[in-house]
Amino acid sequence: LPIIDFHCHLDDGWGDEPTPGRDAFIAAMDQIGVDKACIFTLQGFYRDTQAANERLLQHANAEPDRLIPFVTVDPKLGDIAIQELDLYLGTGLFRGVKFHSWVQSFAPSIVHETMSDILDCVSQYDVPVLFHDGTPPYSTSFQIADLARQFPKAKIVLGHAGLSDYVFAAGQLAAELPNLYLCCCGPKAGELPYLIQCAGSEKVLFGSDFGIADWTLLADRLDDVQCANLSEAAKESVLYKNAVRLLRLAD
Ligand SMILES: [Zn+2]
Repeated sequence: LPIIDFHCHLDDGWGDEPTPGRDAFIAAMDQIGVDKACIFTLQGFYRDTQAANERLLQHANAEPDRLIPFVTVDPKLGDIAIQELDLYLGTGLFRGVKFHSWVQSFAPSIVHETMSDILDCVSQYDVPVLFHDGTPPYSTSFQIADLARQFPKAKIVLGHAGLSDYVFAAGQLAAELPNLYLCCCGPKAGELPYLIQCAGSEKVLFGSDFGIADWTLLADRLDDVQCANLSEAAKESVLYKNAVRLLRLAD
């Protein structure tokens, strides 16, 4: 059974903390049996998104069969952000967009005009937008789900499916909104069947956050899926098929 990890970070460290480099990253994927990983920045949430996006492209170009880059821009910059997004999505090399409204320091409602243009842009390119969720004040699952409600053409992913405090709500929100998806990255094995029962197995994706820590994080988060007692069909959807569909990869 092929596996796609829908939530990883590959960058030159996180603040002062070192993080796995590309070789260690690929070695962990091989060791644990992950075929492809969606990779996001870390440094680019704080400064210089363009340099961060270029680093992601370099990684993806070096491992084109394994790494799927997601672009990040800073919505606080207004038109500059939209131009940068359009430029990078226009290359066809980025398959999705990542926002972390908490560490990027914006409430979605405060940058409403820019976010509106951003979500129009991603709808045109038909790529998913993954938001960090599960943490107040800027990133509650409710705030992110509101974007899915306001922009029904945009495919929005709750990057942590509620994380810890909003898992119950995340399931309900994804059930309500056809364009809202759940990346199960943080909720425990016992909560995954709830999310699937609530939102449907076609709305839930496996993600690990690997890259903010070493390979043990990837192993732990994959265990959360493997140990959740899912049907084979549901497991195949969560680990692979839903990601293929959202990313529009060749099956
Ligand atoms: Zn993350």
